[in-house]
Amino acid sequence: MSEVQTQIEITMAKTSEPNLLGLDRSGLETFFDSIGEKKFRATQVMKWIHQLGVVDFQEMNNLSKDLRDRLSEVSSIQNLHVAKDLLSKDGTRKWLLQLPDGNHIEAVFIPEDDRGTLCVSSQVGCALDCSFCSTGRQGFNRNLTTAEIISQVWLAAHLLEEEKKLCPGMDGSSAMQEQLPTGRKITNVVMMGMGEPLLNFDNVVSAMRIMMDDFAYGLSKRRVTVSTAGVVPAMDRLGDVLDMRLAVSLHATNDELRNELVPVNKKYPLKELMAACRRFMDKQNSRSRITFEYVLLDGVNDKPEHARELIKLLKGIPTLMNLIPFNPFEGSGYKTSSKQAVARFSEILHHAGMTTVVRKTRGEDIDAACGQLAGKIEDKSRRHRRFEKPRFGMEQ
Ligand code: SAH
Repeated sequence: MSEVQTQIEITMAKTSEPNLLGLDRSGLETFFDSIGEKKFRATQVMKWIHQLGVVDFQEMNNLSKDLRDRLSEVSSIQNLHVAKDLLSKDGTRKWLLQLPDGNHIEAVFIPEDDRGTLCVSSQVGCALDCSFCSTGRQGFNRNLTTAEIISQVWLAAHLLEEEKKLCPGMDGSSAMQEQLPTGRKITNVVMMGMGEPLLNFDNVVSAMRIMMDDFAYGLSKRRVTVSTAGVVPAMDRLGDVLDMRLAVSLHATNDELRNELVPVNKKYPLKELMAACRRFMDKQNSRSRITFEYVLLDGVNDKPEHARELIKLLKGIPTLMNLIPFNPFEGSGYKTSSKQAVARFSEILHHAGMTTVVRKTRGEDIDAACGQLAGKIEDKSRRHRRFEKPRFGMEQ
């Protein structure tokens, strides 16, 4: 048998058994039931994997030796491979992760004074083709499995914990402490990495259940956010099955412009999207707001009249407005709005009583923006681009 063949067979053997990392509570209960074990094993194993970071069944010492051996035979716990681990000057940390099929995805940890946010990917590439998005340029490859989504959280939690051991200065006083302040913990997760989470619905929902499970990461529903470009039927389904925060990538205030920037708008135009947002709010138990994301593109959507249109459009929807400075990448054809344009835009929204945050650009030195690093890797390996030209004649 050739080496390649053996490799393929090993991979297939491994993938046919369940990867317990990717099973939520009910999935684990079904699994234990199927091997003739009691359901409470699910919470025991969940705790070992997600809270204690243990991935070797033999270390799970509240399970009998027989059960540990059995689990090693019929299941596995497999994380993604860390291909790159980058730390920015501003403390942002980014991981380039390799999937078993050789594809790459990214996860980014963004520390702030009062929180630590992990930005998680849901797909390899993206089908939605938003004109200013670097992931969109890579085209769509495939959905991530639940295990591949939650592995990003597991690895980030684990590697952040390791920082303490690697940098003794963090607990004492040294230059290192300034760079890596203590308390670098994941307090929030945003599904804002590569891909459209609502087009990988089941796996994303399962992964979020694990994030919010008290026997796993125990994040509250206010601290887990799904970001969508506006896949209306899936927004309705999501509201039915889960209570968490929703972010909607708006970026334009009329259908003509939004059709260009966020082409899924042609299928679900603004009127339908706004109605879906209202329905979503009605279903949520907690009276939280919807976050709207708006990337400011110089001369495209950053004029005072756009701000005024935005106020009209969102009237009656409890809103947290996130203004995002465009993160430029080679060949995008767009430019970042000037500081004055951003200030003027946010001022108009503030004035109308809208809670508005201008997001800071983080981790620029490590290509921390969505899809940028994986994009470079894929470019190098494939040497092709889906789009050759800047679009919409934006190059100046
Ligand atoms: N598909 C989902 C989530 C992934 S993108 C969505 O559209 O919401 C997460 C956010 O980053 C989105 O608001 C997206 O529009 C924004 N984004 C994408 N490319 C960007 C860029 N080059 N600069 C700034 N923000 C960008």
